Amino acid sequence: MSLSKPKPRELQALLRAAYPDARCALDHRDPFQLVVATILSAQCTDARVNITTPALFARFPDAASLAAASQAEVETLVKSTGFFRNKARNLIGLAQALMVRHGGLVPSDPAALGALPGVGQKTANVVLANAFGVPALAVDTHIFRVARRLGLSGATTPEKVEADLCRLFPREDWIELHHQLIFHGRRTCDARRPDCAGCALRELCPTGLGKVRDPHLGVKLTPPDLGLQPSSFRPQALAPGPQDPPQAGPRRIVSLVPSVTELLVQWGLAAQLVGRTRYCIEPRWIRNSVPTVGGTKDPDLGRIRDLAPDLVILEHDENPKEAAEALTALGIPWLVLDIRTVKDCAGALRLLGERLGVPGVAEARARALEAFLKGRRRKGPRALALVWRDPWMSAGPDTYMGDLLRQGGFTPIGPERYPTLTDGDLEALAPRILLLPSEPYRFNARHRAELQKRFPNAAVHLVDGRALTWYLSRTEEGLELVRSLS
Ligand code: SF4
Repeated sequence: MSLSKPKPRELQALLRAAYPDARCALDHRDPFQLVVATILSAQCTDARVNITTPALFARFPDAASLAAASQAEVETLVKSTGFFRNKARNLIGLAQALMVRHGGLVPSDPAALGALPGVGQKTANVVLANAFGVPALAVDTHIFRVARRLGLSGATTPEKVEADLCRLFPREDWIELHHQLIFHGRRTCDARRPDCAGCALRELCPTGLGKVRDPHLGVKLTPPDLGLQPSSFRPQALAPGPQDPPQAGPRRIVSLVPSVTELLVQWGLAAQLVGRTRYCIEPRWIRNSVPTVGGTKDPDLGRIRDLAPDLVILEHDENPKEAAEALTALGIPWLVLDIRTVKDCAGALRLLGERLGVPGVAEARARALEAFLKGRRRKGPRALALVWRDPWMSAGPDTYMGDLLRQGGFTPIGPERYPTLTDGDLEALAPRILLLPSEPYRFNARHRAELQKRFPNAAVHLVDGRALTWYLSRTEEGLELVRSLS
């Protein structure tokens, strides 16, 4: 094995195992939304862009509406992403060019795309790859750093690093590799503090092994103590690795919990998944390959029985207790999780890891979460997360969402559990931060405007509902989201 140039195939196998969830982190529904979000992501986090774009797209859903927008209004909507004057100018220019040159549609031709206002090579590559499936490998700050640390390129410009990577890896893998390297840079190979001890690639990395000077920091890194001491709250390896020699786990699992279904796939247990509820829809491909067994509140017990599972996974709030009783009557083994805090997630990960035969990967993720939770609480502004409208319903301080807010430095308010609130109750609570998640109720820009009017002194945010509610598989995303708001 060469220490200075990892073999592409080996590297790809490790990246696939470590980041099976690697995907475009910018929320978008079509090429127009993606090109706009990518322009906004310059010098800004994807999480912040995802908070900003729902209101922008609600107001300007297509090129025609954005082309006619006023600079001032767009500036207001994109202000939080930084460099807002330039970005607003570029977005309006982009939309006008799309209307004049391309009938309002985003072109899939690289030259035409690259000629649009505000669209550089990097943006064009992101859009080509993610909106049109055209193989492209845009080198951003993460890929630039990771590729050089791994010894994949010694070049000193993003363009040359891109050329080196394109030479090394097969064209059909470029899109996947792009996302995996970005995930690796974000979750593990941090610019200032790379977590070499927890890195799945460390055996292939000349920088992490201390063989060469870190091209990013300019110093040699100390080779890691390879004990299990994750320093980041991000999972270091999501799929079973060497720490999980094959163990006897269930072979036919039905999951009645959407986020657990996603977690099973992250842990490389998709082959054992034989049934899911119709709300278990991530990752997308399982919609076509894993049969449904009804909803979370009304699982179809006949269908579950026909699938002959050797384990059904439920969650206390998500599924009715009658379902567990009926499974007992049918002689089908089940496991109920009870998650009301972020800390509960660590326990649930361990419980699932033991039961499913992957204790090592579960332990690593649980420890990373616990490390993050240590000493970070403070009593910040009063925050309320609404989960429904007509009638208003909120997530109380004793719920998982409430605890997520607490971990983000807010003080969750409101009655316990998921109470209904009158207009008067809402006003009496006087939140300083009001979160409007995209699920279970689909709050939109109109609701945000309405509540902002009612609470002029509060910060009202439209946020990704799955990051806030999908415990276990997206707890890290939820923590990042609430931290980005504080
Ligand atoms: S071993 Fe360290 S430097 Fe190398 S890729 Fe992993 S985290 Fe980055």
